[in-house]
Amino acid sequence: MNPIQSILILGGGSAGFLTALALRARFPDIPLTLLRSPELGIIGVGEGTFAYVPKHLHGYLGIDPGEFHAEARPTWKLGTRFEWGKRERFFYTFDNQVDFRVDGLPRANGYYCFDDFDDASVHASLMREGKAFRRQADGSPHLDHSFGYHIENELFVAYLEKVARRRNVEILDGTVAEVAKSAAGVESLLLEDGRRLAADFFVDCSGFRSVLLGETLGVPFTPFTSTLYCDRAVVGGWNRGPDEPILPYTTSETMDSGWCWRIEHPEKVIRGYVYGSAFISDDAADGEFRRKNPKVASTRIVKFKAGAYQKLWVGNVMAIGNSSGFVEPLEATAIAFVCSQSKALADSLYHNDLVVSEVLRDAVNRIFDDGWNNIREFLGVHYRFNDRLDTPFWKACRSDVDLGEAEAIVEYYRAHGPSPLMRHVLERRMDMFSLEGFYTMLVGLKVPFENRHRPSESELARWERFRAANQREAKVGLTVAEAMSVIRLPEWSWNPEFYSMFRPE
Ligand SMILES: Cc1cc2nc3c(=O)[nH]c(=O)nc-3n(C[C@H](O)[C@H](O)[C@H](O)COP(=O)(O)OP(=O)(O)OC[C@H]3O[C@@H](n4cnc5c(N)ncnc54)[C@H](O)[C@@H]3O)c2cc1C
Repeated sequence: MNPIQSILILGGGSAGFLTALALRARFPDIPLTLLRSPELGIIGVGEGTFAYVPKHLHGYLGIDPGEFHAEARPTWKLGTRFEWGKRERFFYTFDNQVDFRVDGLPRANGYYCFDDFDDASVHASLMREGKAFRRQADGSPHLDHSFGYHIENELFVAYLEKVARRRNVEILDGTVAEVAKSAAGVESLLLEDGRRLAADFFVDCSGFRSVLLGETLGVPFTPFTSTLYCDRAVVGGWNRGPDEPILPYTTSETMDSGWCWRIEHPEKVIRGYVYGSAFISDDAADGEFRRKNPKVASTRIVKFKAGAYQKLWVGNVMAIGNSSGFVEPLEATAIAFVCSQSKALADSLYHNDLVVSEVLRDAVNRIFDDGWNNIREFLGVHYRFNDRLDTPFWKACRSDVDLGEAEAIVEYYRAHGPSPLMRHVLERRMDMFSLEGFYTMLVGLKVPFENRHRPSESELARWERFRAANQREAKVGLTVAEAMSVIRLPEWSWNPEFYSMFRPE
């Protein structure tokens, strides 16, 4: 087997550029070309991220946080405010609320949260107060790194392109008309303008078209329709008014036939109603969306298919991003998954001196197959237990949603509550959420369990002291707008040490 000597990435959306930068982090000199079609453009949605994304950007990819904030203009996201289930709302934070034990208490926090789920962590209190960060003694924000970003897709991609050019990635504009196959998979791409591009290895980042993996190599697609019933989104937004603070979280609101996100950018608010077209027409979804969001001017509909290709790496082609599979943005997992996929590719090529074997491909395929199922099942838990509305969509979700392997976690929780014992089930998987995520949803949605703990007076007093301390910190915390002003001051400096632990090793 000969080592790979040239790589071509097809696609210049966030998946294409994140892949280019991951490969550059490992291979500063390999010939690396990215082809994208200005005519077809990029998806233009995809704006919330998981907490892993900042660590990957500033650690593995070595992107300077100061330049990133100045040019990509993200806002911070501490988690999601869920307007789901019987509670008015609950907060899913990126710090720990339930699978964690406060000093001096005999049980994990989750056992104390069932009736009142407020202030179960500092971040939950910050979110409730509309604050982004705790305040340090000098008044500056305490960036504890349990945050993701909200970033506009176009700004994000434009910034990544700038970094890729600086790192010597060759960027070509053109549209693939035909693909020539070889025994290894793909031999070359013929463009509409007659140019032909060859390489040893191809990364398919062509979005939903999946030009190389799906269309050319014909890898079968597994739909996730037994768990996820949504297949469209109506998207719109408005310019932020002076009375609309930048919220430090994504909002997820229950709708008649799905749910609606609200994402915060410095000057804009973007909303999107994700719905199942078997339950509501496009016009009716647009009508419900506009009724609940009267400030929205224009809307557009985005169609998608939930599911994943059975293998993402076949021969000399690996697919990354929407070309490998897609699930709706209920937990904003897509960009984080792209980061994991591109890191896996770069690391596996690096550790094998650019030589690919069938065993390597199989291992990577197994990991990400498990990863897709983990996401699907976790989203399934959201749907199965949301009892806020009795519409046909939600009734179908409650009676039919398939939870796959997550059924075991739910069964255990129902019998024993949010106990840490189930961690081992997830430790064996490619898991993005951990038990903390599963239990946050189950407790947040008030899924009942046996073996309810009856805390003593002294336990309750300890629990209340913990919550009061979180509230106190949150009350004096900084809002997103305040923290953004501080990071623009000349005396502000980013802590370079924090991200060093995420550098390639
Ligand atoms: C409604 C919705 C909401 C979303 N919200 C989120 C979110 O909150 N958080 C999150 O993480 N993700 C979200 N996503 C997912 C996210 O948008 C994508 O996963 C992510 O941006 C990666 O997109 P991509 O690069 O794979 O595809 P694209 O952006 O579609 O890029 C595809 C690229 O391939 C090129 N291309 C395609 N065909 C050809 C051809 N024949 N020749 C040459 N070039 C070609 C295109 O020009 C383009 O450059 C959302 C997606 C949808 C649909």
